[in-house]
Formats: sequence, C-alpha cells, structure tokens
Amino acid sequence: MSVIVQKFGGSSVADAERIRTVARRIADTADAGDQVVAVVSAMGDTTDELRELAMQITRRPPPRELDMLLSSGERISVALVAMALHELGHVAESYTGSQAGIVTDALHGKARIADIRPTRITAALERGTIPIIAGFQGVSAETLDITTLGPGASDLTAIALAAALGAEVCEIYTDVDGVYSADPRIESRARKLHAVSYEEMLEMAATGARVLQARSVELARNQGVLVHVRSSFTATDGTFIRGADERMMEKAIISAVTHDTSEAKLTLVGVPDQPGVAAKLFRALERRGVNIDMIVQNVSHEGRTDISFTVPRSDVEQAHEGVNEVSKAIGASDVTRDEAIARISLVGAGMKTHPGVTADMFEALSAAGVNIEMISTSPIRISCVIREDQVAEAVRAVHDRFKLSEEVVMRAEHPQEDL
Ligand code: ADP
Ligand code: ASP
Ligand code: MG
Repeated sequence: MSVIVQKFGGSSVADAERIRTVARRIADTADAGDQVVAVVSAMGDTTDELRELAMQITRRPPPRELDMLLSSGERISVALVAMALHELGHVAESYTGSQAGIVTDALHGKARIADIRPTRITAALERGTIPIIAGFQGVSAETLDITTLGPGASDLTAIALAAALGAEVCEIYTDVDGVYSADPRIESRARKLHAVSYEEMLEMAATGARVLQARSVELARNQGVLVHVRSSFTATDGTFIRGADERMMEKAIISAVTHDTSEAKLTLVGVPDQPGVAAKLFRALERRGVNIDMIVQNVSHEGRTDISFTVPRSDVEQAHEGVNEVSKAIGASDVTRDEAIARISLVGAGMKTHPGVTADMFEALSAAGVNIEMISTSPIRISCVIREDQVAEAVRAVHDRFKLSEEVVMRAEHPQEDL
C-alpha cells in the first residue's frame, strides 16, 4: 500500500458543503486502497480574519499569542473534515501540528521545521484510521510553545510529511486546476502547464505564483517529493512538479510570467561611496529580521550614490527604521519609501541558452508603456520592478509577446528526438 498526502487549501474547505466534497475525495482515495494522510488549511480567509482581530486589540501582538490565535483556524477545519469522514463511514482522527510531531524552532510567525516525529500518524495508518493534520503549525522543541510556519505554509506541512512518510505523491488541492503560464485571474488566456521542474517552480513561487509556497518547493526539491497541483472541484490531472527529466519536460523556452504586489521599495539617497556602507546598511536590516529581495546601487556622482532595495511590505516599518538609523550614522542625504510597486518576472529554464529573451521582455513592457525601475536576473529568471497600477497590463503584454497561451509539444511524444 502506498501513502498519498493530500493537502486542501483554504478555499477548498471554505464552507460545510466544500468540506463534505473534500471528505469524499479523501474517502475515495482510501477506498481505492491507498493510505491517505490529509493536511488541511484554515477555512476560507480565517487566518487573515484572525490576524485582523488581533490588530483590533493591539498593533503589536506578542508573537507567541499571535501564533496561538492563528493556529486555531486549522484546528477548526481538521475537526470538521474528520467529522465529515465519519459521516461517510470512515474512521478519521484530526491532529494539531504538535500532535502530528511537527517540531520547529522557536521563531514565531516564520518557524522552521526542525524535525518530524510522525509516530501518531503512522500508528493511525496502521489501525486503518485516516489522519487529518492541521497545516501551517508546529511546536517548538525549545520552548514547547505552538508556532506557525508562515503564510501559505500548509503546503510546507504537506510536503514535509510526504518526505517523512516516503509518500508516493503529495497532492496539493486548490481552487485552480494546476500551475498556469500566468495567474489565471489576471490573464484569462493563461495555459495550464503539464509539468514544471523544481527549479522553475521555485522561481515562480518566489516571484509571486502563490499557488505553491516557495519554501515548500525548496523542500520538495531537496527531498525529491513528487508534487501534483490540482483542483479540489474536478478530477482532471493538474500540474506535476518534479526533477528536470529532459524527456518529460516541455520544450518551451519560457514557462510563465509571474507578478508580486507584496513588496515595497526603500532608497537611501546620497550615500558616501565608500567601502563598508552597504555592509552597515544590510547588517542593520538583518538585525531586524528583514528579508531583502532586489538591490540596486547607482553609479556614483561626486563620491555619492543611491542604494535601493525591495522588502516585503509586512517588513517595511522595521526596514524603514533600520535605514533611518544607518542614514544618520553615515550622513546620507535622504530616505525614500515607495509602496506602490510591483514585480513582474519571466521564468523559464530555456532562457539560459536564448540570449534574446531579456530584450524581448523589455520591448514588450516598453510597447505597453510600462517603465522599468529595477532589474534583477537569475540563470532562469528576469524580474523588473514597475508601478503597481500597471501590473495587469504588463503581465498580459509579456504573456502575449512570448506566446505563452500556445500549447508546447512534449518531448515524450517524440521519442526519436532522444536518439
Ligand atoms: P490555497 O488556499 O488552496 O492554498 P492559494 O490562494 O494559496 O490557494 O493559491 C491559489 C491561487 O494562486 C489561485 O487562485 C491563483 O489566483 C493564484 N496563482 C497565482 N499565480 C498562479 C499561476 N501561475 N498558476 C496558478 N495559480 C496561480
Ligand atoms: N492558513 C494559513 C494561511 O492562510 C496557511 C495556509 O493556508 O497554507 O497562510
Ligand atoms: Mg496556498
């Protein structure tokens, strides 16, 4: 018997009817003879609503208490899914992250999984009981407090469990039927991708394709977990995320265009162009736990330069504080902050060998009247910072330029090419 981990996102369990649908899916998999481990997110927007509730009490909730509060969302949904399975005549038991043996460090709000001790899960499976596990949470081995693993981290719980249990596949059930060449909510002509390599999916997730959480893709890659992203509402195959087996991958140069409107830009203006200044700045940000994304330093004029960088909007207050402190210490002329930015990225393993891609992307943006403010690249990605209010037209322009709606021939259908 093989183990299958099935993860259901918030919209898949948003109400009682959907919870019954999820339970039927789990029951069908169990009836087919597989051992199912289900991981469930909080219902609908529960996590966001709980966070807002906390903000009505205090602008600075103690991180320990915030995690106690947020983790309760998943506790509700797992109990309801287990009840729905009982209604279908199956034996199921719900478990919190802590009960399921998800052991983490003590970093509230973005805890890292340190160990998985799934003894209760394996015992349940041996008894023929279906374990239903609360995603997104764990327990700190150090403080014994409940922790949460960061936004979208039920994906991480599912993939970590799939790795620990040696599951055949980790199925991510969501409200779209796979990974698309762009967010289908912005580009209606986006195409469903059959298979995406871990590397490409990692770049896509890190640049805003929120269908999979970036850290979970990294874990899947490191542990070689086969991931299948598919719809909770239909039975069709979705998108497989796996190692880059050349024969099975699509021949496309570009896989997708992604966008992200969750960042802000800070600029330190008129910085003395001397060794050690950038080090001071980024050390001050690191001390505040701020994650930096893009960094651009301009050419210097008369011994002074500007340094711009982007950070998650959720970190912008701490980042601004840090930049102000460094600005005073080094005698910079000004600090500016801009929250109306967006990042648009083009991702594709084939761009390594196609040098024209960068120029094509910039031309597409310019033809759409979109100004590029910052640029960064990796071997398989190009990202540009643009104005937030132009993001939808920018996505469509780039998607169109690279003809991403068009079906790509699979190599596997042409085995003679492998000779
Ligand atoms: P869940 O609650 O199931 O975890 P999420 O809201 O986290 O679901 O992720 C699914 C959403 O991701 C979709 O509704 C879709 O709008 C968005 N999305 C963004 N980019 C993509 C993409 N390239 N392919 C598919 N979905 C995408
Ligand atoms: N409920 C959590 C969140 O909204 C975890 C998840 O849905 O993956 O981020
Ligand atoms: Mg999600």
